[in-house]
Amino acid sequence: MRVYADNAATTPISEHAKAEMIKYMDAEYENASSLHSFGQSAAAALAEARARIGKCIGADAGEIYFTSGGSEADNQAIISAAHFGAKKNKKHIISTKIEHHAVLHTLDRLKKEGYEVTLLDVDENGLITAEQVREALREDTCLVTVMFANNEIGTIMPIAEIGAICREKKIPFHTDAVQAAGHLHIDVKAMNIDMLSISAHKFHGPKGIGALYCRRGAYIEAIISGGAQEKGKRAGTENLPAIMGMAAALEDAVASIDENAEKLCKMRDKLICELSKIEKTIVNGDRVKRLPGNVNMCFQGIEGESLLLMLDMYGIAASSGSACTSGSLDPSHVLLALGLPHAVAHGSLRLSLSEYTTEAEVDHIIECVPKVVERLREMSPVWERILRGEEIL
Ligand SMILES: *Cc1c(COP(=O)(O)O)cnc(C)c1O
Repeated sequence: MRVYADNAATTPISEHAKAEMIKYMDAEYENASSLHSFGQSAAAALAEARARIGKCIGADAGEIYFTSGGSEADNQAIISAAHFGAKKNKKHIISTKIEHHAVLHTLDRLKKEGYEVTLLDVDENGLITAEQVREALREDTCLVTVMFANNEIGTIMPIAEIGAICREKKIPFHTDAVQAAGHLHIDVKAMNIDMLSISAHKFHGPKGIGALYCRRGAYIEAIISGGAQEKGKRAGTENLPAIMGMAAALEDAVASIDENAEKLCKMRDKLICELSKIEKTIVNGDRVKRLPGNVNMCFQGIEGESLLLMLDMYGIAASSGSACTSGSLDPSHVLLALGLPHAVAHGSLRLSLSEYTTEAEVDHIIECVPKVVERLREMSPVWERILRGEEIL
Protein backbone atom coordinates (compact mmCIF):
# COMPACT_ATOMS: atom_id res chain seq x y z
CA MET A 1 0.00 0.00 0.00
CA ARG A 2 1.25 3.48 -0.86
CA VAL A 3 0.05 6.30 1.38
CA TYR A 4 0.67 9.95 0.60
CA ALA A 5 0.47 11.87 3.88
CA ASP A 6 2.49 14.95 2.94
CA ASN A 7 -0.28 17.21 1.66
CA ALA A 8 1.06 20.27 3.49
CA ALA A 9 4.08 20.08 1.18
CA THR A 10 1.93 19.72 -1.92
CA THR A 11 -1.29 18.03 -2.99
CA PRO A 12 -2.10 15.89 -6.02
CA ILE A 13 -3.89 17.88 -8.72
CA SER A 14 -7.63 17.27 -9.11
CA GLU A 15 -9.06 15.87 -12.35
CA HIS A 16 -11.17 19.01 -12.72
CA ALA A 17 -8.17 21.36 -12.39
CA LYS A 18 -6.17 19.23 -14.80
CA ALA A 19 -8.96 19.25 -17.42
CA GLU A 20 -9.26 23.04 -17.15
CA MET A 21 -5.51 23.41 -17.62
CA ILE A 22 -5.47 21.20 -20.70
CA LYS A 23 -8.30 23.20 -22.22
CA TYR A 24 -6.31 26.40 -21.84
CA MET A 25 -3.08 24.83 -23.06
CA ASP A 26 -4.80 23.36 -26.08
CA ALA A 27 -7.70 25.13 -27.72
CA GLU A 28 -7.49 28.38 -25.77
CA TYR A 29 -3.79 29.08 -25.81
CA GLU A 30 -3.88 32.77 -26.72
CA ASN A 31 -2.25 35.67 -24.92
CA ALA A 32 -4.70 37.63 -22.80
CA SER A 33 -2.90 40.86 -23.65
CA SER A 34 -3.37 40.50 -27.43
CA LEU A 35 -5.84 42.84 -29.10
CA HIS A 36 -7.27 40.35 -31.60
CA SER A 37 -10.49 38.54 -30.80
CA PHE A 38 -8.61 35.31 -30.05
CA GLY A 39 -6.69 37.01 -27.29
CA GLN A 40 -9.80 38.71 -26.06
CA SER A 41 -11.42 35.40 -25.23
CA ALA A 42 -8.33 34.59 -23.13
CA ALA A 43 -8.69 37.99 -21.47
CA ALA A 44 -12.32 37.20 -20.69
CA ALA A 45 -11.34 33.86 -19.14
CA LEU A 46 -8.70 35.61 -17.06
CA ALA A 47 -11.19 38.19 -15.81
CA GLU A 48 -13.64 35.48 -14.95
CA ALA A 49 -11.00 33.48 -13.03
CA ARG A 50 -10.11 36.59 -11.08
CA ALA A 51 -13.73 37.07 -10.05
CA ARG A 52 -14.20 33.40 -9.15
CA ILE A 53 -11.06 33.31 -7.00
CA GLY A 54 -11.97 36.60 -5.35
CA LYS A 55 -15.41 35.27 -4.48
CA CYS A 56 -13.88 32.28 -2.68
CA ILE A 57 -12.23 34.59 -0.14
CA GLY A 58 -14.76 37.43 -0.07
CA ALA A 59 -12.76 39.74 -2.35
CA ASP A 60 -13.58 41.58 -5.58
CA ALA A 61 -11.99 40.61 -8.88
CA GLY A 62 -9.99 43.84 -8.96
CA GLU A 63 -8.29 42.93 -5.69
CA ILE A 64 -6.70 39.69 -6.98
CA TYR A 65 -3.18 39.70 -8.44
CA PHE A 66 -1.78 36.49 -9.87
CA THR A 67 1.73 35.44 -8.79
CA SER A 68 3.97 32.41 -9.26
CA GLY A 69 2.84 31.00 -5.91
CA GLY A 70 2.69 31.56 -2.19
CA SER A 71 6.34 32.58 -1.80
CA GLU A 72 6.09 35.34 -4.38
CA ALA A 73 2.82 36.62 -2.93
CA ASP A 74 4.38 36.76 0.55
CA ASN A 75 7.44 38.58 -0.78
CA GLN A 76 5.38 41.10 -2.71
CA ALA A 77 3.02 41.87 0.16
CA ILE A 78 5.77 42.34 2.72
CA ILE A 79 8.15 44.31 0.53
CA SER A 80 5.32 46.60 -0.66
CA ALA A 81 4.18 47.42 2.86
CA ALA A 82 7.78 47.94 4.00
CA HIS A 83 8.57 50.36 1.18
CA PHE A 84 5.32 52.23 1.72
CA GLY A 85 6.12 52.53 5.42
CA ALA A 86 9.64 53.77 4.73
CA LYS A 87 8.22 56.73 2.80
CA LYS A 88 6.67 57.88 6.08
CA ASN A 89 9.67 56.85 8.16
CA LYS A 90 7.85 53.83 9.54
CA LYS A 91 10.19 50.87 9.49
CA HIS A 92 8.90 48.48 12.13
CA ILE A 93 7.26 45.16 11.24
CA ILE A 94 5.48 42.67 13.51
CA SER A 95 5.33 38.97 12.73
CA THR A 96 5.69 35.64 14.55
CA LYS A 97 8.45 33.12 15.16
CA ILE A 98 6.62 30.34 13.33
CA GLU A 99 6.03 31.92 9.93
CA HIS A 100 6.98 30.15 6.70
CA HIS A 101 10.46 30.93 5.42
CA ALA A 102 8.95 32.90 2.53
CA VAL A 103 7.99 35.42 5.23
CA LEU A 104 10.91 35.02 7.65
CA HIS A 105 13.62 35.26 5.01
CA THR A 106 11.96 38.30 3.43
CA LEU A 107 11.95 39.92 6.87
CA ASP A 108 15.65 39.03 7.29
CA ARG A 109 16.38 40.86 4.06
CA LEU A 110 14.46 43.91 5.24
CA LYS A 111 16.38 43.87 8.54
CA LYS A 112 19.60 44.23 6.56
CA GLU A 113 18.00 47.25 4.91
CA GLY A 114 17.42 48.91 8.28
CA TYR A 115 13.95 47.70 9.21
CA GLU A 116 13.20 46.56 12.74
CA VAL A 117 11.31 43.31 13.09
CA THR A 118 9.47 42.05 16.17
CA LEU A 119 8.84 38.31 16.01
CA LEU A 120 6.16 37.40 18.53
CA ASP A 121 6.64 34.32 20.69
CA VAL A 122 4.03 31.60 20.43
CA ASP A 123 2.72 29.71 23.45
CA GLU A 124 3.44 26.00 23.98
CA ASN A 125 0.58 25.17 21.59
CA GLY A 126 1.91 27.40 18.83
CA LEU A 127 -0.57 30.24 19.14
CA ILE A 128 -0.27 34.00 19.56
CA THR A 129 -3.00 36.26 20.90
CA ALA A 130 -4.32 39.42 19.32
CA GLU A 131 -3.33 41.19 22.56
CA GLN A 132 0.32 40.34 21.87
CA VAL A 133 0.00 42.13 18.55
CA ARG A 134 -1.62 45.14 20.20
CA GLU A 135 1.16 45.36 22.76
CA ALA A 136 3.87 45.14 20.10
CA LEU A 137 2.40 47.94 17.96
CA ARG A 138 4.47 51.13 17.75
CA GLU A 139 4.11 54.56 16.20
CA ASP A 140 6.44 53.42 13.42
CA THR A 141 4.86 50.00 12.73
CA CYS A 142 4.24 49.70 8.98
CA LEU A 143 3.07 46.08 8.75
CA VAL A 144 1.68 43.18 10.73
CA THR A 145 2.11 39.82 9.01
CA VAL A 146 0.77 36.72 10.77
CA MET A 147 0.08 33.40 9.07
CA PHE A 148 -3.51 32.16 8.94
CA ALA A 149 -2.57 28.55 9.72
CA ASN A 150 0.82 26.97 10.30
CA ASN A 151 2.18 24.51 7.77
CA GLU A 152 3.99 22.31 10.31
CA ILE A 153 1.81 22.13 13.40
CA GLY A 154 -1.49 23.22 11.86
CA THR A 155 -2.34 25.89 14.43
CA ILE A 156 -4.94 28.45 13.36
CA MET A 157 -4.18 32.03 14.43
CA PRO A 158 -6.83 34.53 15.67
CA ILE A 159 -6.85 36.32 12.31
CA ALA A 160 -10.15 38.22 12.65
CA GLU A 161 -9.10 39.62 16.05
CA ILE A 162 -5.69 40.69 14.76
CA GLY A 163 -7.38 42.19 11.69
CA ALA A 164 -9.72 44.24 13.86
CA ILE A 165 -6.84 45.70 15.87
CA CYS A 166 -4.80 46.53 12.76
CA ARG A 167 -7.77 48.19 11.06
CA GLU A 168 -8.50 50.23 14.18
CA LYS A 169 -4.86 51.42 14.26
CA LYS A 170 -4.76 51.79 10.44
CA ILE A 171 -1.80 49.44 10.07
CA PRO A 172 -1.61 47.18 7.00
CA PHE A 173 -2.27 43.53 7.87
CA HIS A 174 -1.01 40.68 5.69
CA THR A 175 -1.64 36.99 6.25
CA ASP A 176 0.01 34.01 4.62
CA ALA A 177 -3.11 31.91 4.04
CA VAL A 178 -1.42 29.27 1.91
CA GLN A 179 -2.37 26.46 4.30
CA ALA A 180 -5.81 27.91 4.98
CA ALA A 181 -7.20 28.62 1.51
CA GLY A 182 -9.62 25.90 0.45
CA HIS A 183 -9.43 24.33 3.93
CA LEU A 184 -10.81 27.03 6.26
CA HIS A 185 -13.42 29.71 5.71
CA ILE A 186 -11.84 33.00 4.68
CA ASP A 187 -13.62 36.33 4.40
CA VAL A 188 -11.09 39.10 3.86
CA LYS A 189 -13.67 41.84 4.42
CA ALA A 190 -15.16 40.47 7.65
CA MET A 191 -11.66 39.61 8.94
CA ASN A 192 -10.21 43.04 8.06
CA ILE A 193 -7.37 41.56 6.03
CA ASP A 194 -5.50 43.97 3.75
CA MET A 195 -3.31 41.45 1.96
CA LEU A 196 -3.48 37.67 1.75
CA SER A 197 -1.38 35.04 -0.02
CA ILE A 198 -2.61 31.76 -1.50
CA SER A 199 -0.99 29.00 -3.54
CA ALA A 200 -2.87 26.58 -5.82
CA HIS A 201 -0.81 23.45 -5.23
CA LYS A 202 -1.91 23.33 -1.58
CA PHE A 203 -5.55 22.76 -2.57
CA HIS A 204 -5.28 20.29 -5.48
CA GLY A 205 -4.42 22.94 -8.06
CA PRO A 206 -1.25 23.18 -10.16
CA LYS A 207 2.19 24.18 -8.87
CA GLY A 208 3.79 27.51 -9.74
CA ILE A 209 0.65 29.62 -9.46
CA GLY A 210 -0.79 31.63 -6.61
CA ALA A 211 -2.46 34.91 -5.88
CA LEU A 212 -2.07 37.95 -3.72
CA TYR A 213 -5.26 39.60 -2.55
CA CYS A 214 -4.68 43.29 -1.99
CA ARG A 215 -7.58 45.33 -0.61
CA ARG A 216 -8.67 48.15 -2.87
CA GLY A 217 -6.74 51.24 -1.79
CA ALA A 218 -3.98 49.28 -0.03
CA TYR A 219 -0.56 49.83 -1.53
CA ILE A 220 1.34 47.24 -3.54
CA GLU A 221 4.27 47.60 -5.83
CA ALA A 222 5.73 45.41 -8.52
CA ILE A 223 8.67 43.21 -7.64
CA ILE A 224 8.89 41.98 -11.24
CA SER A 225 9.06 44.73 -13.86
CA GLY A 226 8.13 44.50 -17.51
CA GLY A 227 4.76 44.55 -19.25
CA ALA A 228 1.54 46.01 -17.93
CA GLN A 229 -0.03 42.73 -16.82
CA GLU A 230 -1.80 42.66 -13.45
CA LYS A 231 -2.30 46.44 -13.58
CA GLY A 232 1.45 46.87 -13.75
CA LYS A 233 1.95 45.13 -10.40
CA ARG A 234 3.28 41.85 -11.79
CA ALA A 235 4.81 41.78 -15.24
CA GLY A 236 4.91 38.66 -17.39
CA THR A 237 2.41 36.87 -19.62
CA GLU A 238 -0.22 35.36 -17.37
CA ASN A 239 -0.07 31.61 -16.94
CA LEU A 240 -3.66 31.16 -18.04
CA PRO A 241 -3.78 27.32 -17.88
CA ALA A 242 -2.50 27.40 -14.30
CA ILE A 243 -4.81 30.27 -13.37
CA MET A 244 -7.85 28.40 -14.72
CA GLY A 245 -6.70 25.26 -12.91
CA MET A 246 -6.36 27.24 -9.69
CA ALA A 247 -9.85 28.76 -10.05
CA ALA A 248 -11.41 25.32 -10.56
CA ALA A 249 -9.50 23.78 -7.64
CA LEU A 250 -10.30 26.61 -5.23
CA GLU A 251 -14.00 26.65 -6.10
CA ASP A 252 -14.22 22.90 -5.60
CA ALA A 253 -12.34 23.05 -2.30
CA VAL A 254 -14.48 25.89 -0.96
CA ALA A 255 -17.70 24.19 -2.08
CA SER A 256 -16.92 21.14 0.06
CA ILE A 257 -15.00 22.83 2.86
CA ASP A 258 -17.29 21.74 5.73
CA GLU A 259 -17.78 18.22 4.46
CA ASN A 260 -14.02 17.74 3.98
CA ALA A 261 -13.23 19.27 7.36
CA GLU A 262 -15.59 16.91 9.12
CA LYS A 263 -14.10 13.87 7.42
CA LEU A 264 -10.50 15.01 7.92
CA CYS A 265 -10.94 15.99 11.57
CA LYS A 266 -12.15 12.45 12.31
CA MET A 267 -9.14 10.87 10.62
CA ARG A 268 -6.76 13.40 12.20
CA ASP A 269 -8.12 12.77 15.69
CA LYS A 270 -8.00 9.01 15.20
CA LEU A 271 -4.34 9.25 14.22
CA ILE A 272 -3.51 11.53 17.15
CA CYS A 273 -5.38 9.31 19.57
CA GLU A 274 -3.82 6.06 18.37
CA LEU A 275 -0.27 7.33 17.90
CA SER A 276 -0.23 9.08 21.30
CA LYS A 277 -0.48 5.62 22.84
CA ILE A 278 3.20 5.19 21.94
CA GLU A 279 5.14 6.01 25.13
CA LYS A 280 7.18 9.24 25.44
CA THR A 281 5.28 10.94 22.68
CA ILE A 282 4.28 14.60 22.44
CA VAL A 283 1.49 16.03 20.30
CA ASN A 284 2.56 19.39 18.84
CA GLY A 285 0.15 22.22 18.18
CA ASP A 286 -3.25 23.13 19.56
CA ARG A 287 -5.73 20.27 19.72
CA VAL A 288 -8.74 22.39 18.73
CA LYS A 289 -7.49 25.41 16.76
CA ARG A 290 -5.91 23.12 14.22
CA LEU A 291 -6.09 22.46 10.48
CA PRO A 292 -8.39 19.49 9.79
CA GLY A 293 -5.66 17.46 8.06
CA ASN A 294 -2.67 18.14 10.32
CA VAL A 295 -0.99 15.69 12.71
CA ASN A 296 2.37 16.58 14.26
CA MET A 297 4.06 14.58 16.99
CA CYS A 298 7.48 14.05 18.52
CA PHE A 299 8.71 10.60 19.51
CA GLN A 300 11.50 10.92 22.05
CA GLY A 301 14.74 9.07 21.46
CA ILE A 302 14.61 8.95 17.66
CA GLU A 303 15.58 11.09 14.68
CA GLY A 304 12.89 12.36 12.35
CA GLU A 305 15.02 11.63 9.30
CA SER A 306 15.38 7.93 10.13
CA LEU A 307 11.69 7.76 10.91
CA LEU A 308 10.81 9.18 7.49
CA LEU A 309 13.14 6.84 5.65
CA MET A 310 11.73 3.80 7.39
CA LEU A 311 8.14 4.92 6.87
CA ASP A 312 9.02 5.37 3.21
CA MET A 313 9.97 1.68 3.13
CA TYR A 314 6.47 0.89 4.43
CA GLY A 315 5.05 2.99 1.58
CA ILE A 316 4.20 6.04 3.69
CA ALA A 317 5.18 9.54 2.55
CA ALA A 318 5.32 11.90 5.54
CA SER A 319 7.50 14.76 6.65
CA SER A 320 9.55 15.97 9.59
CA GLY A 321 9.58 19.73 9.96
CA SER A 322 8.67 21.25 6.62
CA ALA A 323 9.71 20.44 3.09
CA CYS A 324 11.77 23.62 3.13
CA THR A 325 13.84 22.81 6.22
CA SER A 326 14.37 19.18 5.39
CA GLY A 327 17.78 18.70 3.91
CA SER A 328 19.25 20.75 6.74
CA LEU A 329 20.08 19.15 10.06
CA ASP A 330 18.65 21.96 12.18
CA PRO A 331 15.41 21.08 13.90
CA SER A 332 12.37 23.01 12.76
CA HIS A 333 12.19 26.65 13.90
CA VAL A 334 8.49 26.06 14.56
CA LEU A 335 9.06 23.20 17.00
CA LEU A 336 11.85 25.10 18.74
CA ALA A 337 9.50 28.09 19.12
CA LEU A 338 7.14 25.80 21.07
CA GLY A 339 9.93 25.43 23.61
CA LEU A 340 10.84 21.83 22.77
CA PRO A 341 14.45 20.82 23.46
CA HIS A 342 16.54 20.22 20.31
CA ALA A 343 16.70 16.47 20.92
CA VAL A 344 12.91 16.18 21.13
CA ALA A 345 12.25 18.49 18.17
CA HIS A 346 14.51 16.24 16.09
CA GLY A 347 12.14 13.31 16.49
CA SER A 348 9.17 14.93 14.83
CA LEU A 349 6.69 13.51 12.38
CA ARG A 350 4.17 15.51 10.37
CA LEU A 351 1.33 13.66 8.70
CA SER A 352 -0.80 15.90 6.52
CA LEU A 353 -3.98 14.42 5.08
CA SER A 354 -6.24 15.51 2.25
CA GLU A 355 -9.80 14.65 1.29
CA TYR A 356 -8.29 11.96 -0.95
CA THR A 357 -6.92 10.16 2.13
CA THR A 358 -8.85 6.96 2.92
CA GLU A 359 -9.69 5.18 6.18
CA ALA A 360 -7.59 2.23 5.02
CA GLU A 361 -4.60 4.52 4.58
CA VAL A 362 -5.07 5.94 8.06
CA ASP A 363 -5.18 2.40 9.44
CA HIS A 364 -1.99 1.53 7.57
CA ILE A 365 -0.24 4.51 9.21
CA ILE A 366 -1.56 3.47 12.63
CA GLU A 367 -0.17 -0.02 12.05
CA CYS A 368 3.26 1.04 10.80
CA VAL A 369 4.30 4.03 12.91
CA PRO A 370 4.46 2.18 16.28
CA LYS A 371 6.56 -0.61 14.70
CA VAL A 372 8.97 1.85 13.13
CA VAL A 373 9.28 3.90 16.33
CA GLU A 374 9.99 0.73 18.30
CA ARG A 375 12.66 -0.46 15.85
CA LEU A 376 14.40 2.92 15.91
CA ARG A 377 14.28 3.12 19.68
CA GLU A 378 15.92 -0.31 19.90
CA MET A 379 18.81 1.12 17.91
CA SER A 380 18.82 4.49 19.67
CA PRO A 381 21.86 5.35 21.79
CA VAL A 382 19.75 7.54 24.09
CA TRP A 383 16.51 5.60 24.51
CA GLU A 384 17.71 3.66 27.57
CA ARG A 385 18.71 6.92 29.21
CA ILE A 386 15.32 8.47 28.43
CA LEU A 387 13.60 5.47 30.02
CA ARG A 388 15.73 5.96 33.13
CA GLY A 389 14.31 9.49 33.27
CA GLU A 390 17.41 11.38 32.19
CA GLU A 391 16.78 14.59 30.34
CA ILE A 392 18.33 14.67 26.88
CA LEU A 393 18.78 18.12 25.35
C1 LIG B 1 3.77 26.06 0.78
C2 LIG B 1 3.74 27.31 1.57
C3 LIG B 1 4.26 28.51 1.06
C4 LIG B 1 4.96 28.58 -0.27
O1 LIG B 1 4.09 28.47 -1.35
P1 LIG B 1 4.67 28.15 -2.80
O2 LIG B 1 3.51 28.27 -3.71
O3 LIG B 1 5.21 26.77 -2.74
O4 LIG B 1 5.71 29.18 -3.07
C5 LIG B 1 4.15 29.65 1.82
N1 LIG B 1 3.56 29.62 3.03
C6 LIG B 1 3.05 28.49 3.56
C7 LIG B 1 2.39 28.53 4.89
C8 LIG B 1 3.12 27.30 2.85
O5 LIG B 1 2.63 26.19 3.38
